[in-house]
Amino acid sequence: MYEAFAPEALARRERQMVETLKALGPNGFIEFGRHYLTVENGRIYRSDMTPVGILHDDGFMQGMGDPLGPWDGLKTIEELPGVTFKGIDSQGLQLLLPGTSRGPTGGLLYNKTVGLNVIFGRIATQDHRRVGFMADDGTMYLYDQRFPGTLRKLDENSQLATTFQGIKSNGTPWQHEFTRSIHRAERTYWENEVMRYFEDISRVNDAQKNYVFHTMRLYAQTGLLQIVRKKEGVAGLGNVKHGAAGVTGVRSGNVTLDRDEFENEVGYYKRFSSFMIVPIAVRPYQEVRLNLVVAHEYGHQLEFCLTKAMWERIDELHQKRDRMASRLHPLPEELQGGSEYLLPQHLEERIFISGYSRSSWHEYWAEAVGAFAVKEGRDELRARDPEVHQILCDVILQPEKVVSVNLQESLLALQASLRLGGEFPHNVLEL
Ligand SMILES: [Zn+2]
Repeated sequence: MYEAFAPEALARRERQMVETLKALGPNGFIEFGRHYLTVENGRIYRSDMTPVGILHDDGFMQGMGDPLGPWDGLKTIEELPGVTFKGIDSQGLQLLLPGTSRGPTGGLLYNKTVGLNVIFGRIATQDHRRVGFMADDGTMYLYDQRFPGTLRKLDENSQLATTFQGIKSNGTPWQHEFTRSIHRAERTYWENEVMRYFEDISRVNDAQKNYVFHTMRLYAQTGLLQIVRKKEGVAGLGNVKHGAAGVTGVRSGNVTLDRDEFENEVGYYKRFSSFMIVPIAVRPYQEVRLNLVVAHEYGHQLEFCLTKAMWERIDELHQKRDRMASRLHPLPEELQGGSEYLLPQHLEERIFISGYSRSSWHEYWAEAVGAFAVKEGRDELRARDPEVHQILCDVILQPEKVVSVNLQESLLALQASLRLGGEFPHNVLEL
């Protein structure tokens, strides 16, 4: 059979065609004086099915024949008095044009990188996809891609750098600029967030700096670092000898990392990457160690941003693994009750991602957050402990399932903003 007519090839072509059509534009009807025009996937037809123009989701139109033009280039539907559209846009959401809301018209640059159009308040991409709404005072609302039809209002925490140039709805020229506070303009959003979180970033050497940026990037670019920092606090270096909220029992909100331990950790990570195997005093037992201390301590803060139901779930998962470890790898009396220690031949079938994960459910969670911070650790966590791996996927991709109710709205608005701004790629966990 000729390859192009093979069933798979046909099915694929059909899918591609459907997707192209879906992506083209709205479906519905245009009323224009005594004319009643049909719009199918953005193409405008007269009642005799003669194509007479194109309508885009954002209200830009091209007129190609009576009664629409012809004219060159694109006009907004507002420029054609008496023309109204009623129907759905290419994503299936209700669309009324010109509609009732009015806002500015002009060019908008979002996060210094993404060029958008604003048409009487409707914010759209260069390829005419609707992404939100802008009011005459500069307030922005973005569609949340994950919740079709839901607009998220941005505030000074969720909005990224914005430059607008154009006219207000009343026609007066208007330039508008929004910059994030305490942000260094030459750095990206996520770099700025890491710098704000790790207070000593300017006082550590390059290798340590790279370590902090590399291991905190995921949480920063998905908005989780900002939300947790604002609720709990920042991280810095001090002299605490394994000091952190979870260990000392004193909850300050802030994280203090022991300076020497941090230095060692960066060295270990450089040499061994995320995991290393260390012998313990009782031979021949060994322990698997995770070299992701900053993300680990951040994990203790993140714990306080989860729902109580999640705490119970994590506690359960920890208990289950603790019982498995006792059953499969029983330890001599003097080694019981703490980390997971293993005979060399059992290392491969270890129950916990790292030895320290066994000591309490708080450390179990913090070690999981640490491992999840980098690709290598995420892969290992998925293979060894798929249940806790799934909770962490939810933290990033479906936070409304796991994060405290009072943090959800600000986090979802921030994530919608980061997605539009190109900070939060759809495949962020695969990177
Ligand atoms: Zn800890």
